[in-house]
Amino acid sequence: MYDYLIVGAGLFGAVFAHEAEKKGKKCLVIDKRTHIGGNVYTEDVEGIAVHKYGAHIFHTSNKEIWEYVQQFAEFNRYTNSPVANFHGEIYSMPFNMYTFNKMWGVVTPEEARQKIDEQVKASKIDNPKNLEEQAISLVGKDIYEKLVKGYTEKQWGRKATELPAFIIKRLPVRFTYDNNYFNDTYQGIPIGGYTGMIEKMLDGVDVRLGVDFFENREALKAEAKKLVFTGMIDEYFDYSLGALEYRGLKFETETLDEANYQGNAVVNYTDYETPYTRIIEHKHFEFGMQSKTVVTREYPQKWVRGEEPYYPMNDDRNNSLYEKYKELANKETDVIFGGRLGQYQYYDMDDVIEAALNCAEANL
Ligand SMILES: Cc1cc2nc3c(=O)[nH]c(=O)nc-3n(C[C@H](O)[C@H](O)[C@H](O)COP(=O)(O)OP(=O)(O)OC[C@H]3O[C@@H](n4cnc5c(N)ncnc54)[C@H](O)[C@@H]3O)c2cc1C
Repeated sequence: MYDYLIVGAGLFGAVFAHEAEKKGKKCLVIDKRTHIGGNVYTEDVEGIAVHKYGAHIFHTSNKEIWEYVQQFAEFNRYTNSPVANFHGEIYSMPFNMYTFNKMWGVVTPEEARQKIDEQVKASKIDNPKNLEEQAISLVGKDIYEKLVKGYTEKQWGRKATELPAFIIKRLPVRFTYDNNYFNDTYQGIPIGGYTGMIEKMLDGVDVRLGVDFFENREALKAEAKKLVFTGMIDEYFDYSLGALEYRGLKFETETLDEANYQGNAVVNYTDYETPYTRIIEHKHFEFGMQSKTVVTREYPQKWVRGEEPYYPMNDDRNNSLYEKYKELANKETDVIFGGRLGQYQYYDMDDVIEAALNCAEANL
């Protein structure tokens, strides 16, 4: 008899299991996938750690979480500095002085600020009614048209004029020559990939892979006193109130017989015509010097049930449906719902680790 059956070997499940075992509880972790790690899983191809479910860059300003993860992996000094490719023109992301210099030939922060202010003023938008108006009112029309519009329309599968303004609350504009995408204090990639990190978290824990909870629900539940569920909350309740929606993704990965394909880990394709939103060249996350390289093209997709759910669509309809599922969840005794699918929310890795630690603290 286990103390906990943990459904999902992703970050939430692995952190919870680690903390539970530390407190002397016996855990069984299952996952329907044939590997541990959930979406942070990395796979070794040609000596390169390939991020199978999209680029994962660890970044946080939470010192406690940064120190917590150091016990499971050594992190490198990777700093996320994506570049944007608009029909072959290359721009720095986030929008910074390199971007403004390339866009308008301006050199000083003052000139750049003036240029943006001019364009924002010329747009005459006081009360943005959609995403297009919102973006133009924040950064002006040049940056919007070359670096925001096409990418956003591909990402959401809808015209920017048909998307709500609230999706973009702010567009980070930086009047320095700093290419670091994130503002967080700590950042890096675990050397050798994330899978080793999760392996260490799950050290000493019983793990069964390729096991879908719903295919053997009662028998699995009978093996433990309590359940930690990190799968989809609506599936747990048999979609009885309706299905929550997600945005899907498709990844096309290939190994190339060359050492350096694009010179950067992440290149965003910001025009509408290129069907993918970005190309990831995995070796650059770890400054790899291998003779081959592995690249992944990322295509946003309409999500259909049965496919991997990537991004929760946190609009009013889905959020209020989730609240109803949460009411059902609160009535379940001895079941904890956690993680991005169990709580229907986008979590960065540091957030999900923090959530799992808080959950462990409250329950163990
Ligand atoms: C494309 C993409 C890029 C991202 N990039 C970053 C980034 O750069 N930085 C960052 O901090 N965060 C990033 N994230 C977020 C990060 O992936 C999440 O924070 C993290 O994976 C959440 O962990 P989790 O345990 O909640 O979920 P998951 O990793 O999804 O784990 C849940 C596990 O449960 C399993 N499961 C579900 N249902 C069942 C079932 N019925 N039976 C058995 N097993 C089941 C699933 O197979 C899965 O393995 C990104 C997310 C995406 C989608």
